[in-house]
Amino acid sequence: MGYQEHVEGKGISSFTISQNGNAVYKKNYNKTKLCLTVLTVLVFCLSTFYIYYSYTAIEICKTKPCLQSTVTLMNCMNKTVDPCEDFYEFACGMFETNYPSYTTSDNSWTDIIMSKVNYKVKKFLSRNNGADEPEAVHKTRKFYTACLNFTEGLISDDSNYYSPLWRLWEELGLDENYLNDTVALDLEIISSKFRKYIDSNIYFGISTIEDPRNSSSHALLSISTFEESSKFKLKNDKMETNNATINENIPKFIEYFQLMTDQLLNRNQTCQKRISNSLLLNTSMELSYFNFEYSKLRHDAFHTEIDIGKIMTLRELQNLTDETQFKFNWTLYLRELFRENEPRVYEQLLENSDDYEIITDNIVFLQNVFSLLSKTPTKIIKMSVLSNAVNNLLKFQIVPETWSPEYCFSLTTERLGMATGYAMVDTLDDSTKAAATEMNDNIIWAFHKMISESSWMDDETKNATHRKLDYTKTYFGYPNNYTNILNDLYKNLNITENHLENLISITRFHSKKLWNNLVQKKDGENKEWKMNPDEVNAYSDPSMNAFFMPAAFLQAPLYHNGLEALNYGMTGSTIGHELSHNYDNTGRLFNEYGNVLQWWTNKSYEEYSRRAGCMIDHYNNILVTMHNDTMYVNGNQTLNENIADVVGLKESYFAYLRYVEKHGQEPRLPGMEKYNSEQLFFLGYAVQFCQYDQSGFEYYDESNLHSPSSVRVRGVLSLTQEFANAWSCPSGTPMNPKKEKCQIW
Ligand SMILES: [Zn+2]
Repeated sequence: MGYQEHVEGKGISSFTISQNGNAVYKKNYNKTKLCLTVLTVLVFCLSTFYIYYSYTAIEICKTKPCLQSTVTLMNCMNKTVDPCEDFYEFACGMFETNYPSYTTSDNSWTDIIMSKVNYKVKKFLSRNNGADEPEAVHKTRKFYTACLNFTEGLISDDSNYYSPLWRLWEELGLDENYLNDTVALDLEIISSKFRKYIDSNIYFGISTIEDPRNSSSHALLSISTFEESSKFKLKNDKMETNNATINENIPKFIEYFQLMTDQLLNRNQTCQKRISNSLLLNTSMELSYFNFEYSKLRHDAFHTEIDIGKIMTLRELQNLTDETQFKFNWTLYLRELFRENEPRVYEQLLENSDDYEIITDNIVFLQNVFSLLSKTPTKIIKMSVLSNAVNNLLKFQIVPETWSPEYCFSLTTERLGMATGYAMVDTLDDSTKAAATEMNDNIIWAFHKMISESSWMDDETKNATHRKLDYTKTYFGYPNNYTNILNDLYKNLNITENHLENLISITRFHSKKLWNNLVQKKDGENKEWKMNPDEVNAYSDPSMNAFFMPAAFLQAPLYHNGLEALNYGMTGSTIGHELSHNYDNTGRLFNEYGNVLQWWTNKSYEEYSRRAGCMIDHYNNILVTMHNDTMYVNGNQTLNENIADVVGLKESYFAYLRYVEKHGQEPRLPGMEKYNSEQLFFLGYAVQFCQYDQSGFEYYDESNLHSPSSVRVRGVLSLTQEFANAWSCPSGTPMNPKKEKCQIW
C-alpha cells in the first residue's frame, strides 16, 4: 500500500494501449472507426517511441562492481513488502535466507567483510618476512608463529614453558599466606603490581585521557570507573544455609585457591579436579555479598551519564577518599606504579604529589567503592584480591582442547592489531583515496549548507559551527607515516620463541606504553589510531576534532559498489554519522581545537535540547520485535547515536546531490533499472544494516548505545522527508508518518 514506483515507460497503461493497437489489422471499418484507428495508431507509435526512448535514454552500468551490487541488493531484498510500510523488511527481508552463517548464530555485513579481511590478514601472517616491511610486522609474525608452535605436545611435555608464568606469579607475590592476620593488606602496592604486571585494575580503573582544557598538551591521569559493567550474580540458593563464620570458610577458600593456581600454572600434574573461579567466589557468604555490592556499584556507575570528567589535585582526591574512612594512600600507589614504568611521572610525584592533577569521571563511584571497602572485613578484601589474581591468571590459561590456529590468530590481531593492520596497505590505491576524499569533502560541504539553512541557530553559534567544521580532519585507511609509527610503537617489545613469555611481555608492554602520554605532548598526526586498519568500523575523536575510517571499511558492499549512489548511501552515511558525533550531545561540548569550552549561545543550546527531546520521544515510542520478543527503544540511552544517524544520512544525501551536480546523473543498476539513483541511495543505506541475531535482544542491553539495526533503518528514514519523496511514500504511511519529523538540522 502507498508505494508508487518512479518508473519511466514501464507503466501498465502503456502496455494496455499497445495491446489496443492490434485493432488496426481489422479490414471492415467506417469513418468513425477510421478516425479512431488513426488515433490509435498514433498513440501506439508515440507510446512505442516513448518506451523505446525511455529505455535507451536510461544508461545502464555493466561493470563488474555494478553486477555484484545487483546481486547483493537482490539477495537482501524482499520485494513482496511495500517499502512505504516497512523499508527494513523490503531492503533486508531475504538477508537471513541468502546469507546464512555456517559458524555462528548471527550474521551482518560487518561479519562478512570481517571474515574476508581475516583471511587476508592470515595469509599475510603466514608469509615470509619482506625486506621492505616494518620490523614490527616481523615481530608480529614471530608472535603468531610462536603461538602456533605452542602445540599440545609441548604443553604436556615441557614444563619449562610454564616458567615465565611462575615468575609472573611470584612477582605478584600472592599466595594463601596473604590471608594471615600478620600480613598487611597493602592494597596500594598490590593494586600497582596488578596494573604493572598483568595490565589489570582491581577496584577502579586507571588510564590517561586528553586534557579537556587543552587537548594538544600532554594527557591527564584518569582515575575512573570501568569501561564495562560487571555482572556478578549472588548465588542465594547455595549460600542461604551457610551460617559459617569467615574463618570457618577460609580452609575451603584456600583449597580451591590452591587447586586453581596449580591448574593454571601447570604445577601439579596429578591433580585432575578442574574447578572454576565462581566456586572460589562463593566459598563465603560475605565474599559473595561483597562482590555483589561491588558489581552493583560498577553497574550503576556505568550507567551514570557523565560528559566530561572533573579535574582535581591528588590532595583533593586524597581528602575525598579519607572521608570514607578507608585507608588508601594515592601517592604511595602512584609512585609504586610509575617508579619503573614512567620515571618522569615518578619524579613529579616525588617533588610535589599534592598538586599533581588528575581527572576523574565519577568521584561518587570512587567514594562508594572506598566506603564499601571500609565496611568490609580485611580478610574478605584479601580473599577478593586473591580471587581477582586467579581471575587474571586465567588470561594466560592454556587449554589444549581449545587450542587452535584460530585462537592464535585472534590473539595476534587483538594484541598486535596495529601491526596486523599492515596487511591492508595494498587495499587503498590512489583512486580509492581520491574518491573517498571527494565524498568526505562533499559531506562537509553539505553540513555547512545544513547549518547555514537552519532557522533555529543564531549567527554566533552558526559561525562557530562553520569554524569547527573547517577544522575537522579526516583520515582514511591507516595512519600517515605508518611504518615509522609501527616501528616506534613496538621498538621496546621483545618477542621470543616462547609463547607464554611473549604473552607476558606484551601484557606489560600494553600496560607501560600508555603512560608516555602523561609527559609527551600530543601528536595526533604521528600516533597510532584507536582503531586498527583491519577493523571494519570507524570512529570520531572529539578531542582531535577528527574522524578515522580504517582501510578494512572501504570494501564492497560498503564501498566499491560501482555506483556512487550506493557508496554515498553506505560509506557516505557512515562518514556523515561520525562527523555528526562531533555535534551530538557530547561532541558539541568540544570546540574546533578539541577543547571543552562553551561555544554555543544559551538560546541555541535551548533549541538544540528541545530538538533532542523530540528525538528521544520518537525513539522511545519505537517497538521492536525480534524472535517473538518485543522491546521499546531507550531514546535517552541511544540519543547520541540516533542524532548521528539522522544528521549523517541527510548530510550524505545532500553530498550525493552535489556529486551528481558535478559529475552528472549516474547510470542504473543492471536488472534493477526501475530504481533511480536517489532510491538506490536510500536502499544502500538500509542494506548496510541487514543482519540477523539469534540471541535476540541480548546484545541490546543497557550498555549498547546504538538502536537495533532495523530501527536504524525504520526510525531514521521515517524522520527523513527526502526518503519519503524519493520513494513516493504518501503521508500517513508508516515510513512517512504525519507527525513532526524531529530534526536537529
Ligand atoms: Zn556512532
